[in-house]
Amino acid sequence: MLKTNFSLSDDLTPLSVSDLPLVVHPGKVHVHWAETAHAKRFDILARVRDRLHVALRCQSCGDVHVSRVSVVMTAQPLCPHCVESRWRQTALTAGLTWRGRDPEHRHYAYYGLPCGHDVRRQVSFVERVASGTVAIRCENCLVHREEAEASRFGWQRIGRDPQGNANYRLYRHGCGHEQRIAVANLRWGQCDCAGCGESWTAKPSYIYLLDIRHPQTKRHYLKLGYSSHPVKRHKHQLGLPKNATVEVLRVVAMPTGHDACAHEKAAHARLSRQHPEALVPNSEYQAFMNVVSEIYRPVSLSILQDTLDRIEVEITDAVRIRNSDTAAAPPQTTSRIHTDARNNPESQSSTALNNRSPARGQPRRRRRPMTDPRDPNPILRRHWGLTR
Ligand SMILES: [Zn+2]
Ligand SMILES: [Zn+2]
Ligand SMILES: [Zn+2]
Repeated sequence: MLKTNFSLSDDLTPLSVSDLPLVVHPGKVHVHWAETAHAKRFDILARVRDRLHVALRCQSCGDVHVSRVSVVMTAQPLCPHCVESRWRQTALTAGLTWRGRDPEHRHYAYYGLPCGHDVRRQVSFVERVASGTVAIRCENCLVHREEAEASRFGWQRIGRDPQGNANYRLYRHGCGHEQRIAVANLRWGQCDCAGCGESWTAKPSYIYLLDIRHPQTKRHYLKLGYSSHPVKRHKHQLGLPKNATVEVLRVVAMPTGHDACAHEKAAHARLSRQHPEALVPNSEYQAFMNVVSEIYRPVSLSILQDTLDRIEVEITDAVRIRNSDTAAAPPQTTSRIHTDARNNPESQSSTALNNRSPARGQPRRRRRPMTDPRDPNPILRRHWGLTR
């Protein structure tokens, strides 16, 4: 056998594959082969590799590929270069960068995502992305996001769920204990550690009264809500426009997230029953922020302050009952925030809180049961009234 340079038999147009690393097979290219190939929009350049293969030049793109003679004679050869340029175009339409075929699997290729990561996908899947029927997701970015979500609550994302549930991951708590947790639950910090016993419902939480303004659209609302997270994240959580301002008017410290959830829920129910005019209809703000309810008119400020006064009494009484054995003094549960600290929500945890014990000297009220036993995930469902 000789390598590449050759001349074709007389009955074929002389062509060259001298730039290809092909081993030429010395056999004759039969005229009926050449005619059949030509009818199928290919030209046979030479017999290559062995007696079964020929080098074909595509009449569309001019590129050369190797095909079995039997394919030329009995089927329609496909030009891999034309196929690849179609795939490249599909990737472009799908908003991706073509990175090349997967040499291991003919149905797969590599694509560059807008986030900068590369992924391997089935070509037919990318065709559906291009047609808009499905969206492509980046596993790398997803993992990074889940890692960040977990670390906010003292957990480390380790990997997939060892039991194979797509909604779960394996996490390691700060104490070293590893356990499976549903991704959606950890996103909200809603997870108890079976190792050290730390419970999300037992963590301190807060009920906030927020003043939300958007000068551009002259919007002005009040919002009640609870959170165990830093105040600085409220704006982000509420999905407000960048130029909106959020002022924390008041913070009521709650002994547990469960208490915060239950009291906030009860307060909203009571307000909508007794002061329906204080509530802003959802249709008025749904395009403005990412909440479904619990938005109030600014004129209802005093009603909301009264509501928080009442929660303070209830929570103080509840703590007193819990601690009745030890006859502990009622904790300092709340404060109205000093005016000069209003624009610095971070300061609420230190000096800005004008701590007092409002319940002292006030009559005890019976604590009413406020949890809904049918609601197993109150935080998830009620947390800031977010749409999910
Ligand atoms: Zn071609
Ligand atoms: Zn990514
Ligand atoms: Zn733990």
